[in-house]
Amino acid sequence: MSDTRLDLPPVAAAPAGLPKPHLAVYVLLGVSLVLNIVLISRGGGVEAPEPTATLAAEVPAATPAAPPSATPAAPSGPAEAAFAAQAAAEPAADAAPAAAAPGEWITTRHGVKHSIARTFQIALGEDGPAVAAEFARLFVWDMNMKRDLLRGDAVAAVWRKTGEGDAAEYEIAAARLKSGKKGDLRAYAYTAPGDRHPSFWRADGREVPARLHNAPIDTYEQITALLKDRPSHAGMDFKVAVGTPLKAPKSGKVLRTNWNWRYNGNSIEMRFDDGVVAKFLHLSDTGVKPGQRVAAGEVIGKTGNTGRSTAPHLHYQLERGAKVIDPLDYHETMHRTLPASVLPAFQAEVTRLDRLLEARDDG
Ligand SMILES: [Zn+2]
Repeated sequence: MSDTRLDLPPVAAAPAGLPKPHLAVYVLLGVSLVLNIVLISRGGGVEAPEPTATLAAEVPAATPAAPPSATPAAPSGPAEAAFAAQAAAEPAADAAPAAAAPGEWITTRHGVKHSIARTFQIALGEDGPAVAAEFARLFVWDMNMKRDLLRGDAVAAVWRKTGEGDAAEYEIAAARLKSGKKGDLRAYAYTAPGDRHPSFWRADGREVPARLHNAPIDTYEQITALLKDRPSHAGMDFKVAVGTPLKAPKSGKVLRTNWNWRYNGNSIEMRFDDGVVAKFLHLSDTGVKPGQRVAAGEVIGKTGNTGRSTAPHLHYQLERGAKVIDPLDYHETMHRTLPASVLPAFQAEVTRLDRLLEARDDG
């Protein structure tokens, strides 16, 4: 099996809903916006060869200890005006992309050049690949990021970087992909009631990433790789804390455990009763033995960070005969919706973030 690894920064916890702010807070946030927002745009970029950038991160970095309490600066009327003024005073097209100061929320809007990876590389320089990976993850559910991009498409993202060097993490609060083929796609970070981590939602409150019925884990922070993202990677990756219970999605029999430890770490291979073979890699603990029968939903181990893995995650791989199959095709899937009780707060967040995403279309 092939399970190559790429290390890209993760999406950190994103802002929760904006509380009802005082007018003074809006003013402060508006001032903060003017100070903080860095507009990055370059017109008419040079057409360069497409890089072999990867849109999906294989291994997420460690989860921050606690989600940040800060939210992106809220635009007010005056801030919008200042925004436009700043946009008008942008650097020349051949200026180097501005470097982001750690923690600052940045709005990037740019016309698509060749690929999402190339687009963000042009717009952001060294931060580009990581932001592109996070961005692409939000839209792989709706479009093929290679085939469906058209000339004239545009991206926008409200994002920030926290930490430096190996500790750098990238976080997106909102993203937009204006696609000539698929329409005006948008995703907004929001933490649903009862969730430990923010997820991404459409403006109508429907969750962007699909969820598997009878998934091997009940809770996770994020799906960080899909089968269709990269042919060289044979599974689906979930960023998840070490020690999360791993459940057999279906009843079946354990075939082997802990083979090829250097790459797979603690691992379980089982054959479901329908003949499909499932592999669960990088576990912290395996609770079953080869030959053992397990029932659907039975806990068979715990997720971990063993073998060739640089951050806690579960690699879930399915095969029918010699063919690798996509868990999204094999499992039934569903999209959650935000409960009505939080929709007003969420919609306020959407309105706020839309002002940033829409402020200007560049490129
Ligand atoms: Zn994987």
